[in-house]
Amino acid sequence: MLLSTPCRRRYAGLVRVWCLALLLGWSLRGAAQPAHAPVVSGATLLRPAAVFDGQDLHPGWAVLVENDKISAAGPAAQLALPAGGRLLELPGLTLLPGLIEGHSHLLLHPYNEKLWNDQVLLESQALRVARATVHAQRTLLAGFTTARDLGTEGASYADVGLKQAIDEGIISGPRLLVATRALVATGSYGPKLSVDENVPQGAQEADGVDGIIRAVREQIGKGADVIKVYADYRWGIDGTAQPTFSQEELTLIVQTARSAGRGVVAHAVTPEGMRRAILAGVETIEHGDNGTLEVFKLMKQRGVALCPTVAATDAVAQYKGWHKGQDPVPLRIQQKHASMEAALKAGVTLAFGGDVGVFAHGDNAREMEQLVRDYGLTPLQVLHQATSGNARIFHLADRGSIRPGLLADLVAVAGDPTQDVAAVRQIRLVMKGGVLYRQP
Ligand SMILES: [Zn+2]
Repeated sequence: MLLSTPCRRRYAGLVRVWCLALLLGWSLRGAAQPAHAPVVSGATLLRPAAVFDGQDLHPGWAVLVENDKISAAGPAAQLALPAGGRLLELPGLTLLPGLIEGHSHLLLHPYNEKLWNDQVLLESQALRVARATVHAQRTLLAGFTTARDLGTEGASYADVGLKQAIDEGIISGPRLLVATRALVATGSYGPKLSVDENVPQGAQEADGVDGIIRAVREQIGKGADVIKVYADYRWGIDGTAQPTFSQEELTLIVQTARSAGRGVVAHAVTPEGMRRAILAGVETIEHGDNGTLEVFKLMKQRGVALCPTVAATDAVAQYKGWHKGQDPVPLRIQQKHASMEAALKAGVTLAFGGDVGVFAHGDNAREMEQLVRDYGLTPLQVLHQATSGNARIFHLADRGSIRPGLLADLVAVAGDPTQDVAAVRQIRLVMKGGVLYRQP
């Protein structure tokens, strides 16, 4: 009403622009507020057989949740249920912090269902988003209350909308950190068809000082929480992985992202691609398949974490015809074992992430099981990684542990996952922000 009078006066054109800007500003601020975010009020006392708090297992503990936060955790005898509160008896179950997936692609589905090229080129964005909403729900119900989603692979900025739909309670899913389109050097990525065709790529091409600064800022402006860069890719003469961006370009990517408060993660499998990314200042290296002891020592020295994605390597080998348990171990898997040995020897911090999307969403525990069964980690190490470890590496100070003041993101599993990690598949309860999405 206040705006209508000046709008009709002499400088009507100019003022109309001003009015429009005000209205637009108002409506955008309105849109930023979650319209239907699930809210919970009141207290819930959870009494499981034991609590893994992100560090250690505590038999006989209970956890009190008030509204969307954890308000107390400790020996059950010391925690009383406030008047009007709800008691959840969870006999035989272990309560854990909500698990954190470190490397997912909600916009992809397994490559043995449809090849990556065909997903990127032939599937409509609507189809991909519709499928992603189901993936998000499966991820949450599998106990993963947070996921770092590392690239839409040709689905533009659809992850930003997915995140918003989850935050507003329109669909259920994990809290998301999104990377949007990811950055690749021109010519290095795919899909590749005829040389006569410039087909849409699975990530954003950017090169040189101007191109890189613009692309990083564009992704940040559209909603990227983290910037993902492909430091190498399979564009060698014989199809082998070779470095893509120069040292100067990678350093510029990290500087540009960091000045806007974003970290950078790098896909890298070659020692040289990894080395450049580490020196540039990325926070995690994804895959690291051919990393050497020397390059892992550099990672350790610079405080860069490795997200090994062993489950994706295993899945791809099987899609290519490997009959696990019968056929000889393929070269790629042997290399993965050698690199993991070197990483562990160098003392590199491991982030937890399976590259889920290459294999089925909701099957995130596959990475945990393989790390224990095939790579010699203990269940406790893997549980640390998937909770407090990832929270620290991803700068998520409000989750990843069970202690007062943190978000009430909790899962309960049957059995003791610190003894048998396969127990993480026996999900009986999922709570996110105090809201129950699954309960016994
Ligand atoms: Zn990936």
